[in-house]
Amino acid sequence: MESLIILGTGIAGLTAAIYAARANLTPLVLSGPEDGGQLTLTTDVENFPGFPEGVKGPELINLCKQQAERFGTRFQLGLCTKIEKKESQHNQKNHYFVIEIDGEKKIETKTVIIATGASARWLGLPSEQKYKGRGVTTCATCDGAFFKGKEVAVIGGGDSAMEESLFLTKFASKVTIIHRKEEFRASKIMQERVFKNEKIKVVWNSEVAEILGDGKKVTAIKLKNTATNQLTDFRCDGVFLAIGHFPNTSFLKDFIDLDEKEYLKADKMMHTNINGIFAAGDVQDIRFRQAITASGSGCMAAMEAEKYLAHQEE
Ligand code: NDP
Repeated sequence: MESLIILGTGIAGLTAAIYAARANLTPLVLSGPEDGGQLTLTTDVENFPGFPEGVKGPELINLCKQQAERFGTRFQLGLCTKIEKKESQHNQKNHYFVIEIDGEKKIETKTVIIATGASARWLGLPSEQKYKGRGVTTCATCDGAFFKGKEVAVIGGGDSAMEESLFLTKFASKVTIIHRKEEFRASKIMQERVFKNEKIKVVWNSEVAEILGDGKKVTAIKLKNTATNQLTDFRCDGVFLAIGHFPNTSFLKDFIDLDEKEYLKADKMMHTNINGIFAAGDVQDIRFRQAITASGSGCMAAMEAEKYLAHQEE
């Protein structure tokens, strides 16, 4: 039986692996469909401490992987499709878990750290995929600085869209929020800040019908008015999607406590409601969603898993 299985190879899962491996737990890390997590979708990471010149997201993930491997972490490709809790035959007080991989293979483990992350919602347009990373992005904190003096559009009407727009005014010459309704769902205070900012304009009742570009980068977006269906081209250099994220928890439904938005519920010590299962990273964090906070929670989850295992052995 494994001591610890970590689900997810984003920065939260990898930090948990480094800590657990250094504690001699020889963790097994399972990698899902987005190997390396959201950092592999970004270019330069300029706000991770220790890299004054910045570091490429995929490079940071690769370095963390090497660091985890150096202390004995094992990696395996495979999507966890189900977790089951089983009572131990030998010790009534202890239980263990069975991890189902890709709907078939099963592995037993004493503890689990769930670090399956969250994925940004995309519009679902083919042109959006074509210009992904070439003007279309889902992260202003990651990519805003590349749009110094440029004109950008932010899609969405929630707090993220407000926050990203305000952040982007530090770099862009003009920020336009495109929203499909005629009012925002964002909190009033965030809306007030947006309306007060002279660099931010709003285009109401408009959906993105297509991302337009010259083959290399974004040059405009085609907007459809939701009231009149009229199509217009809106010139811009960048498109920031802020239409929400979804946590990767579908395999956990009816097994573990999730909140109303299906994020994994964890306490300040990264414990879930099931003893022996811990949470780390964006799968349990709707608010900060930063590489450094995900990494910190991975460290905490691993330290708590180690303590739990030591207590079980006593
Ligand atoms: P939300 O789900 O709150 O908002 C998503 C927005 O995107 C909505 O305005 C929605 O439109 C729009 N949208 C969704 N799908 C599409 C689509 N296909 N095309 C066009 N528009 C679309 O997500 P957020 O990420 O903004 O916020 C998530 C949570 O995090 C919220 O609880 C928020 O309060 C919180 N948060 C808090 C912050 C803070 O306090 N500083 C900062 C950021 C987030 P519609 O309104 O029409 O449904």
